[in-house]
Amino acid sequence: MEEKYLIAQIKDMLPPDSNISDYLFEGANVVIYTRNTQFFREGGNDIRRIVNTIKKRVELRVDPSLLLDAETAEERIRSIVPKEADIGDIWFDEKRSIIIIEAMKPGVVIGKNGETIRKIREDTLWVPKVQRSPAIKSDLVRNIRKTLYAHSDYRRKFLHNIGERIYSGWERNNKYWIRLSCLGGFREVGRSCLFLQTTESKVMLDCGVNVASKLYAYPYLEAPEFNIKDLDAVIISHAHLDHGGFLPYLYKYGYKGPTYCTAPTRDVMTLLHLDYIDVAQKEGSKGIYDSRDVKKWIKHSVCLDYGEVTDVTPDVRLTLHNAGHVLGSSAIHLNIGDGYHNILYTADHKFSRTKLLEPIESQFTRVETLITESTYGARDDIQPTREECEEQLLSIISDTTKTGGKTLIPVLGVGRAQEIMLVVEDAVRMGLIPDIPIYVDGMVWDITAIHTTYPEFMNRSVRKLIFHRDHNPFLAPCFKKVGSQKERVQIMESDDPCLILATSGMLTGGPSVEYLRNLAEDRKNSLVFVSYQAEGSLGSSIQKGSEYVHIERYRGGREQVYIKLGVHTISGFSGHSDRNQIINFVRMIKPKPRRVIVNHGESSKCLELASRIHKLFRVETSAPRDLDVLRIR
Ligand SMILES: [Zn+2]
Repeated sequence: MEEKYLIAQIKDMLPPDSNISDYLFEGANVVIYTRNTQFFREGGNDIRRIVNTIKKRVELRVDPSLLLDAETAEERIRSIVPKEADIGDIWFDEKRSIIIIEAMKPGVVIGKNGETIRKIREDTLWVPKVQRSPAIKSDLVRNIRKTLYAHSDYRRKFLHNIGERIYSGWERNNKYWIRLSCLGGFREVGRSCLFLQTTESKVMLDCGVNVASKLYAYPYLEAPEFNIKDLDAVIISHAHLDHGGFLPYLYKYGYKGPTYCTAPTRDVMTLLHLDYIDVAQKEGSKGIYDSRDVKKWIKHSVCLDYGEVTDVTPDVRLTLHNAGHVLGSSAIHLNIGDGYHNILYTADHKFSRTKLLEPIESQFTRVETLITESTYGARDDIQPTREECEEQLLSIISDTTKTGGKTLIPVLGVGRAQEIMLVVEDAVRMGLIPDIPIYVDGMVWDITAIHTTYPEFMNRSVRKLIFHRDHNPFLAPCFKKVGSQKERVQIMESDDPCLILATSGMLTGGPSVEYLRNLAEDRKNSLVFVSYQAEGSLGSSIQKGSEYVHIERYRGGREQVYIKLGVHTISGFSGHSDRNQIINFVRMIKPKPRRVIVNHGESSKCLELASRIHKLFRVETSAPRDLDVLRIR
């Protein structure tokens, strides 16, 4: 539907005294600003009637000039809402007449049948939105929200421009086509980037870096079909750097359009961006972008919940679904050309329930083309069961503790770290392992804080613990935060056994390398890999049995270190589906896709898995290379 028809239709349906000052888009949604405060309070039925007719989300707000001033509004809210809600920050998005109320207990702010929140709306004329405060204080989450609401005027215009593009009109004629360019992450793991074009739109799916490779670090944005100026939208599947690490670079070089993802992806990815800049600086390189570019992307972020359908261009409709990989990770579903073709790009996925997440969604209305990862897609990539893995981990920790050693688990920071925390917390509570300190270093802690902000993205059991039994496992007393090099030295110099969770997961930098340097030459200690070790990383060479390695010192310089500590790999904690889970996913996905494209795996795995899927399910399959272009329709 084109913009002018849409607005005309809405105008027709509004009562004559509605006194509308502005019709604006917020992405695919329409926002109407009224100067009639009585209509704002009582016009609910009129708005519902419009929504039912035009099938678009429409929201009614009061013209910003008539709002109660921020200070008085805040006073009112604090007096209306019961104390037990534990209200934290209140943010004012002034140009959009929205107020964001942060509370430890969002349900109390909403009230029975929404009574409390309705009263706030009617008393202050602001449109209240409620958000959960992080149970662990997080400066990062605070800064992200500050960045979003400090640019209220800019955001209002930006979201309106997206809407104008979406409703700019298009026509599906017999010249309509869809093609996909593979710009990174094909027959390799790292720098995932897919570029989708139709006769009408240009959309990018993921924009990652390969942190383990200097030579092949960035996606092929120099491909002739790609021009940053023409890009309509970016969609990011999840927070890991190999899927979103290159995003700020787009904004540095002039991209001004939206990036769609879930709220936890936005928060965690921002943290990883800032850390990536930090690591580059410590290594003495300039980095490919700086924190200003990270801010720019936050200003252009548009967050979606799982299952929320939104148009991103005139002919591309997006829905994000749970992918079971890390908090907020999404399988990206695209309905292209008004049902002409449907693509599901799973990105990284797990087709099995974990301690933290539900398995990837497998039931859809339509899917013709499936794009799946194959990190563990080889015939012998069969992971042991979760129970076996948990047992193995707990016995390594117990044995190491008995001999007085320390156990180091390098973690990605997001995903595996929290999974391991849940396993260990459970074990401590049940008395299955000795009650030793569990050190959670720097960034893992910050990411855990973000986890406490979004329990609704976790699986049913964790939600139940947090909501009904008021027991947040991430806040258990066995976890000790490590924030400085001084504390690190104290831990390493102490003779007492302990467990250490530290980034980075592949020992490519960060505190895990520092711990390893100190723990490596003592046979009593243990090193446990629980996540994927990319070719070329320090983790990979130790995993393959290197007797000594060269490690960067914290204060510069390199040191030769002998690997004498016990090295263990537990593959079953992976946030990726193993071979059987990938194949089962392709078997179970409804409806059955006509074509399967395999990416995100070493070359041999992509090829072999593609041929296996073809034999098993008699569908067209392929394992394209980077820079290949596929015609989808
Ligand atoms: Zn990932």
